Amino acid sequence: MTYPIIGITASVDVKEGWYRQRSNYITAIEQCGGIPVILPPISKSTEAIITRLDGLLLAGGGDLDPQHYNEDPRYKLHYDDPLRDRFELSLTQAALAQGKPILGICRGIQVLNVALGGTLYQELHEQVEGRLIHQHSSGEPTHVVKIEQGSLLGRLSGKRAIRVNSFHHQAVQTIALGLIVSAKANDGIIEAIEDPRHQFVLGVQWHPERMREQDPVANALFTGLINAAQR
Ligand code: MN
Repeated sequence: MTYPIIGITASVDVKEGWYRQRSNYITAIEQCGGIPVILPPISKSTEAIITRLDGLLLAGGGDLDPQHYNEDPRYKLHYDDPLRDRFELSLTQAALAQGKPILGICRGIQVLNVALGGTLYQELHEQVEGRLIHQHSSGEPTHVVKIEQGSLLGRLSGKRAIRVNSFHHQAVQTIALGLIVSAKANDGIIEAIEDPRHQFVLGVQWHPERMREQDPVANALFTGLINAAQR
């Protein structure tokens, strides 16, 4: 039995001088059979980091600077760290180039899409008429996503629809060339994307690491990442 090493991107707390990550990402990877390693953003070669990892988990966080998808800010955004933006985009490109499995969560689906040339809604509640409320404070599942049959997510979940939590004010707008949509909310907002050119490259807009106790699909996402990382 080998335990694949899964890199998990970290948050930066500039004010306190900390790198940090939530424990539920760590326990999800460990309990589903991987070894979690937290990756602080640095400016050294991301290729060298990816070479030593078996898989990559792009964690949640603040907003990407819209310059990375060739837009100026249109609203008051909740920026993350500029080095984290560059690090995660580069890490994603390196993982794709080396064929390493990727699971993107919340900000992570957005990083995946932008790394491949896609764009985001900067503020869903302003830019999309008739959208559902996607920004809830509770961890409970609040809206349905319909899953594309035959997609990786469809195979992993074995379901046509699931209820998910929702903590985001941004979302994938134009999907990057080569990616496919594998789940949408009932208002048409993209909730999952994947890269069918790879064995396991999946991004979800919800937070499965917070749903593992009540939702077997949440565990299936982490197990899928770790199984793919074992090959
Ligand atoms: Mn949502």
